[in-house]
Amino acid sequence: MPLSTSTRHERHGLYPQAGTVEDFQHNLAAVQAKIAAACQRAGRDPAGVRLLPVSKTKPEASLRLAHAAGCRMLGENKVQEALDKWESMQDLADLRWSVIGHLQTNKARLVARFASEFQALDSLRVAAALDRRLQAEGRALDVFVQVNTSGEASKYGLAPEELRDFMQQLPAFSALRVRGLMTLALFSAEAARVRRCFVLLRNLRERLRQEAPAGIVLDELSMGMSGDFEIAVEEGATVVRVGQAIFGARPLPDSYYWPAASGFETQESA
Ligand SMILES: *Cc1c(COP(=O)(O)O)cnc(C)c1O
Repeated sequence: MPLSTSTRHERHGLYPQAGTVEDFQHNLAAVQAKIAAACQRAGRDPAGVRLLPVSKTKPEASLRLAHAAGCRMLGENKVQEALDKWESMQDLADLRWSVIGHLQTNKARLVARFASEFQALDSLRVAAALDRRLQAEGRALDVFVQVNTSGEASKYGLAPEELRDFMQQLPAFSALRVRGLMTLALFSAEAARVRRCFVLLRNLRERLRQEAPAGIVLDELSMGMSGDFEIAVEEGATVVRVGQAIFGARPLPDSYYWPAASGFETQESA
């Protein structure tokens, strides 16, 4: 396994804004080419990696361009923003939504209304609230369990050692279709430390697969974003969540989304 792939976090803020369908097509093709190259290095089939474009903070017009360029599922970090976008884009009947950010129990009913996928399950309370609302709506939801692989106190997700007991409880929630695990790696320019997070998630999946209760399928590994998706693919990602490399840089600093990212520039890459 090659170990030299570096992170691209230092490019944050430099991704140009995608303003036309052609821009989106170009960016999507560029990311897919990097995924294919990472697959080749790791001896993987690129068909086993799904690219989830992440549209958070971007205006509706950008999302419509992404859809025109072929995107059929978009990832959003905040529930209210995702719901607003879903409501205003009802005319795009084939566009589906993945909620990839932490969910508070009182917002579960919103997710149950419109989302096709939820990637940040990290508590039984949220699982129960989602299941109850989904049953009422007659819907089901693809779900990923979020794991804190970096050990940072401010990151969401279950600790690795909590995962086994958590999994055993999930069959009680029949509207949740558990697909796999999700993580946010350490936000660092040190590629080896980032890679360690991805390896940990893959090893957890291999271990838990054997003991997973009936109906709980741990096929998927959602890991990797604009700054580190090539490393994630090398380590087995089946879903990469890529925003800025497709849509362009976000105006807000990453600390707005992940408290742990604040100070990254000065602590890690300066
Ligand atoms: C924003 C976000 C991403 C994508 O980050 P980019 O730097 O835009 O690629 C991935 N995962 C989660 C959970 C996010 O909130």
